[in-house]
Amino acid sequence: MSLANGRAYLAIPGPSVMPEEVLRAMHRSAPNIYEGELIEMTAGLIPDLRAVARTAGRVAIYICNGHGTWEAALANTMAQGDRVLVPATGRFGHGWADVARGQGLNVEMLDFGKRDALDLGRVEAALRADTDHTIRAVLATHVDTSTSVRNDINGLRSVLDATGHPALLMADCIASLACDRFEMDAWGVDVTISASQKGLMVPPGLGFVWFSEKAAEARKRIGAVPRYWDWTHRAEPEMFYQYFGGTAPTHHLYGLRAALDLIKAEGIEAIWDRHEVLARAIWAACETWGATGPLEMNIADRGFRSHAVTALRIGAPHGSDLRQWVQDHAGVTLGIGLGMAEPGDPAWHGFFRIGHMGHVNAHMILGALGAIEAGLCALDIPHGSGGLSRAAEVIAGCVSRP
Ligand SMILES: *Cc1c(COP(=O)(O)O)cnc(C)c1O
Repeated sequence: MSLANGRAYLAIPGPSVMPEEVLRAMHRSAPNIYEGELIEMTAGLIPDLRAVARTAGRVAIYICNGHGTWEAALANTMAQGDRVLVPATGRFGHGWADVARGQGLNVEMLDFGKRDALDLGRVEAALRADTDHTIRAVLATHVDTSTSVRNDINGLRSVLDATGHPALLMADCIASLACDRFEMDAWGVDVTISASQKGLMVPPGLGFVWFSEKAAEARKRIGAVPRYWDWTHRAEPEMFYQYFGGTAPTHHLYGLRAALDLIKAEGIEAIWDRHEVLARAIWAACETWGATGPLEMNIADRGFRSHAVTALRIGAPHGSDLRQWVQDHAGVTLGIGLGMAEPGDPAWHGFFRIGHMGHVNAHMILGALGAIEAGLCALDIPHGSGGLSRAAEVIAGCVSRP
């Protein structure tokens, strides 16, 4: 007998759950890329993409994953040897820094470890020390998916303003977009990047780069931009193919249309609220289980936790055992711990993550938490009792938000 048969829930932090509406929209024969419906539909995506990032700025679409957008953002604004400041709060900050090095940039790292948000004071000190303003950009990760920390992007803008530093502010919103509140224009972000497969609920394959007027000006300073990454025509195409630098990602565009329709219908503020309540339910369960036994939230301070992903520590081998148990017995796939220990190190088996981004609702989250509670029991992993009930109380609104 298996209790896993039934609808599976891929609760890893990306790719996320795909809505039926998105899948249905993609299930069709190939459309004409030279005239007709697809061309008109694509133009209509642009204002909705702007709205999701809360910007009146321009947006370029790429056929790539998140890594591609890291490269695109830098290719359009930085020249070989330019200096960038990277406040890293997990694996993804280091990933963007590595891409910058690959493009010949001079990277200054500020490493905040694996369990903390970036410290604005240290960023401020680094900017003040740069009296000649050689730092051209600050590359920040809004939500680092490996640690589940959520950084204060608005605070970074305040620090740049307070120090009078002209560096561009870039934000990696691949995990956070359409999950955690993000306000590109109000927060003074110059370049925002994201990808299709997390909060945007579309399969991996589309990358997005939104850019401000200031970033567009920076593009003029540098000589050559590799043609494929150049955002100029993608953002303001004269011909349809220029949106994509070649053949359109036809089916992804239909999927994206359906996803943006869902986002519009619910409203971005309501989406942020839904993710917040669901995240609080997860925290309530995990904190209760962790009251006795080895389970521990990776990010202690609630104010710096993402509403899209939750990283947990439980000690080896419990992390891997629990993931295996809930997958085999309950049809829930949890995320591996990323960047917490090296694969091959026994400690690697002591972590897991819950992805709760995009198309997720109360019954899915309660179901996943129930599966985890069952797994903790079945595997005899010590834990505080009543975690699932605490989560239900948050969902019910019986617990007020602190
Ligand atoms: C997922 C993710 C990436 C990488 O995206 P890929 O599509 O895997 O290249 C980068 N940054 C953050 C914050 C992410 O969550």
